Amino acid sequence: MSARSDDGWPWTEDGLTTMDEREYEHEKSRKPITATNHLNGSMKKFSIFPRLLLSILLLVCGACASPATQIVSESTATPTSTMQATSPATPTLLMKSTAMFPILPTPSLTAVSFPLPTQTLVFIPSATATEMLLPTATGTPAASPTVTPTFSPVRRTPATLMLHPSSDVFDSVAFLQAFVQILQENGIEVITYQTISEHPEITAVEQGRLVIITIDDISLQAPLDDSVQGMIAILLEADYPAVLGVVTEGQAADDETAQTLRDLSAQGWEIAAHTDTHQNLGELEALSPGDMRAEIRTCGDKLFEAVGVRPITLVLPYGQMVQNAKLIYKEHIIWAVGINGGVTYNSAGLLYYVGREGPDGDADLTFRIMMQRFNP
Ligand SMILES: [Zn+2]
Repeated sequence: MSARSDDGWPWTEDGLTTMDEREYEHEKSRKPITATNHLNGSMKKFSIFPRLLLSILLLVCGACASPATQIVSESTATPTSTMQATSPATPTLLMKSTAMFPILPTPSLTAVSFPLPTQTLVFIPSATATEMLLPTATGTPAASPTVTPTFSPVRRTPATLMLHPSSDVFDSVAFLQAFVQILQENGIEVITYQTISEHPEITAVEQGRLVIITIDDISLQAPLDDSVQGMIAILLEADYPAVLGVVTEGQAADDETAQTLRDLSAQGWEIAAHTDTHQNLGELEALSPGDMRAEIRTCGDKLFEAVGVRPITLVLPYGQMVQNAKLIYKEHIIWAVGINGGVTYNSAGLLYYVGREGPDGDADLTFRIMMQRFNP
């Protein structure tokens, strides 16, 4: 058995596959003592006698079939009850649970690089992933086992909208006004990546009812664009937070912009790094992994100085992910936000790649496309 993310990422080096295979192997080894096998063995032993008896009865007295049928029925009943007494289900379950602990992998970080830009996540602490996958009914063979609900570590990414400041051909403010109304009509909860990090279970409990709104290309060094201010006003009015992707190129932060970001951060909005100079990180990594990391680090440092927050989310310029995601994680990033793929993420991991959807036609069509993509 092998697990695969929606993006085709083979989980060959994390705890998922390890556990699945062990469970599978264990199931195979358990088969000889299952009720069915036991019953089959018993039936072979008992089935010869009634057949012989039936033949004798028919030959000797030519009697009707009814008594013979009766004898056959009694014969089959006996091994059934024997089976139930000798093959109890509960000890089998207990054995399955306890047998797994000695073979748990030792805790270690498994580093995996991204073969493609859209792949989901990277390092899985083996022990953590394994623990989360243990059967929930690990208890004793008591009469009333307590089953604690646990959620699959693989979660659906909330449907995520990608917005930019208005352009000559697209009015982001009008679009967002209509989009927010749709969210309100549908009872959608708007969250941020930070919300998920603080409440990891939310994507399991509220799956299908969550939306993330991101606004890219906000410059820390310039006054806020009119359309960005318009979008912020709409979201504040609706009491919805957003994720703001901030570029920090330049020497001095704009005082008003920094103050606005501080205020919004205090109200639950998320300030995300969008690199220092809006570089394509995948291309930069190929030239110089160090320069790629510096783009993230410099952006984080400038945001911390001006706004007082250390971003845990990186909005990838051009949606371009890097090959070695470990380098991003080393810059304290937890969420890498691209465009393609990323409709699921493994909450047992350390870094998550997630995707987004840009405006596609009007707000109504965009909402429907988003919900279908992230919650099929
Ligand atoms: Zn951008």
